[in-house]
Amino acid sequence: MLGLCPGALDAAPTTAYLMLGERCVADCAFCAQARSSEAAADRLSRVAWPPFDAQRVAQAIAEAHARGEIGRACFQVTHGAGSHASARQAVAALAQAADLPICVSIAAHDLEEIEALLAAGAQRVTIALDAATPQVYARTKGGSRERTWALLQAGAGRFPGRLGTHLIAGLGETEEELLNTAQALLRLGLTLGLFAFTPVRGTRLAGAQPPPLESYRRIQAGLWLLKEGLGAIEAWRFEGGRLVDYGATAEALALWLAGGDAFRTAGCPDCNRPYYNERPSGPLYNYPRRLTPDEAEGEIAALLRTLAL
Ligand code: SF4
Repeated sequence: MLGLCPGALDAAPTTAYLMLGERCVADCAFCAQARSSEAAADRLSRVAWPPFDAQRVAQAIAEAHARGEIGRACFQVTHGAGSHASARQAVAALAQAADLPICVSIAAHDLEEIEALLAAGAQRVTIALDAATPQVYARTKGGSRERTWALLQAGAGRFPGRLGTHLIAGLGETEEELLNTAQALLRLGLTLGLFAFTPVRGTRLAGAQPPPLESYRRIQAGLWLLKEGLGAIEAWRFEGGRLVDYGATAEALALWLAGGDAFRTAGCPDCNRPYYNERPSGPLYNYPRRLTPDEAEGEIAALLRTLAL
């Protein structure tokens, strides 16, 4: 998309994802950049991130944005000495070169760090919660989930509409736990991106399984209904943590979900993250593009078959 190297594209990214920093000092069990990861240094999730000159990248992003091909840029910042200062510099340099919304996904410590990134030109700062429950957080990320939650809560109040987070489905939580957390985050006013756990070679969770697709579809549909104000978890029914009823008839659900947008990548506008979660051969956990009418119909029919309506 940026013309920096040749490559085949099945689904074009509509956001420019930019990794900043070296191997992370944190040690998330699912992350290719984790301290103990043995994955290649240029990997994040399933994706390779070849290095390029920053000025050249900023120029290429400005041109791709002017052509209408890129709607946003998102820095994925690994944690380490000086990472906040280099993120601020990179945001400021890109904001000067290109007039497009910029996100920074970073492990911020306090409101001042968030404020500084926003002041440098970021439209939104994203602090990844990733884990839906304290138990999953302790097992996969370590550190203090309470501190991250408290910062998200305080930041949502201080910077309305300018703070986001991510959740990963399939780390051992139930659908009920994930959707409960999602609803609480949305009620704080945070932008919420959803990923399916994907095992990456060289990471601590390399041998673990991704979530069952039908479970991920129920979570995607639930998250979309929450975002659209078409449901609330209090009215839904769960059996053993599995969602079995959205408190609506099959006809209503089919109507609401008809466009298929529920199954597309969730997060900031224009963020489609092609093939972060899946092989290009499929199955697609997050559709990186609009679904065809047949695909949407098929996904909705498959979803309804898994419910107890
Ligand atoms: S939702 Fe997408 S654009 Fe927004 S912070 Fe997350 S990865 Fe970046």
